[in-house]
Parts: sequence; structure tokens; C-alpha cells
Amino acid sequence: MNQGDRREHRGARILLVEDNALNRRLVRDLLAHRGHEVVEATTVPEAVERLSCAPDLVLMDLQLPGGSGEQVLQHIRSRDDVRSVPVIVVTASAMQGEKERLLAAGFDAYLSKPIDTRSFGAVVESFLVKGAPGRD
Ligand code: MN
Repeated sequence: MNQGDRREHRGARILLVEDNALNRRLVRDLLAHRGHEVVEATTVPEAVERLSCAPDLVLMDLQLPGGSGEQVLQHIRSRDDVRSVPVIVVTASAMQGEKERLLAAGFDAYLSKPIDTRSFGAVVESFLVKGAPGRD
């Protein structure tokens, strides 16, 4: 990726679905520092409502109050306007086979918690490049 590409992919709008306030603030600060707009949601219904912001990418916690990030994923994939948006699941789940199961369920990528703060921004941005048709 050259400098021009890097500039082009600043300023994305990222929907962050996460119910834990500390995790939310960490991710928000990391991404805002890199020039991205972060839209936040803490529950399944809130995440569904915030999809109207037309995010370039979604970061999805799995365990949400009263629901699961997988429910939001299914909703995203069922909607014409957002179905091709990359959705990255970010979870502390350590169950064997869980990563493979989640990727098979349709998530574009899996990141484990605690996140690696040094690489997180660049990893997220690599999915903006791959996931946005016409932007490469
Ligand atoms: Mn959670």
C-alpha cells in the first residue's frame, strides 16, 4: 500500500457495536486518532438502528445485552443497502472452533480480545481496502 492509498482510506465511518464502555472507548480512541468517524451502538436494536449511518465497516462484539452480534450480522446480510459491508467480530471467546464457526457464519474477520493496540488500526484499515468496492 502506498501513501496515496493510505490517505484515501482515512476518514472511514465505522460502526462500533460494543456494550463494554472501556472497550468501546479504547477502540473509539484508536480509530478516531487515525481519522475515522466512529458511530457507537451497545445493543442489537441500537446497532440495527445505527446502520442508517451507512458505515464503511462494522466492528462487532459478540455478547450484547439481550442478544448476540450474530443477530446483527444476519440482519446486515439480509439488507440490500448494507449487506456487503465488512463485519469484523471482536470477541474474547476462547472456545475451540469458535473462530472457524464465526467465519463460516459470515463474519469477514475475527479479532480476539484483548485487542493488540499497536496493530488494531492497520488491521481494521486492511478490511476497508478489501471491503469497499470501487475504492481500490
Ligand atoms: Mn459484550
